[in-house]
Amino acid sequence: MLAAVLVALGSLATALVFAIGLRAARTRVIALCGLASVGCALGASGWWAASGASELATRIALSTLSIAGGLAHGVVFSIAALPKAKTWTRLVLVPLGMWTGTFTAMWFAVPAAGSFLGWTIVLLASGTLTAWCLLPFWSHERGFVLQGERRIPSVRFPCPRCGTRVDWARGVMACTDCGLFVHIDWPADELHAAEGHPVILRPRRAVRFACPECSREGEWPCGDSACAGCGLKVSMHWNVHRHV
Ligand SMILES: [Zn+2]
Ligand SMILES: [Zn+2]
Repeated sequence: MLAAVLVALGSLATALVFAIGLRAARTRVIALCGLASVGCALGASGWWAASGASELATRIALSTLSIAGGLAHGVVFSIAALPKAKTWTRLVLVPLGMWTGTFTAMWFAVPAAGSFLGWTIVLLASGTLTAWCLLPFWSHERGFVLQGERRIPSVRFPCPRCGTRVDWARGVMACTDCGLFVHIDWPADELHAAEGHPVILRPRRAVRFACPECSREGEWPCGDSACAGCGLKVSMHWNVHRHV
């Protein structure tokens, strides 16, 4: 009974990840598949509890939870903020965790799984675990981006086009993953006073990040705006041709 409840809780935890993944264009499909497996895992854990731990219900619940876990890993590693030089690691790290989930699901599904499968899972799982240990260091928000020797102040928010978390340097910078150019400037008092401002691009979209001056979290629209806390003027533009 307790184990069935733990599986249900685990499924709900991955569902939170999928809710975030749904908002990013690049992980929408994985998140939808993930939600489907969460539904199966929740149903099977209910059956597990109701059936008094029938073997079939147990196997289905653990397999679908493993698949959901692998897909949740895929979402996290697809949209986590990584420095430009490390974005290629997604090609390895995203499938690594998804394979771990799939092979673990096979382990639970096949009644007499061999030791080959067992060792494959141990190998994949240790790689996945290492990736999770590295992630906090790699995606730590430092408040600046290195360009050569220079430290350019940055703010972090999801790319308006692909949804990946990016540390956007002050000035013009391309998304580390899809290449969308975002122009962001602060303090932008002069820009705001200039002819032609405020420039509002349609559709008027906003992104969320902490004010680079006073660290107050807020919504910043595409165009010109000012911090509600300290009044810092920020100018931000991007041009998404394909509205997502
Ligand atoms: Zn992007
Ligand atoms: Zn502020």
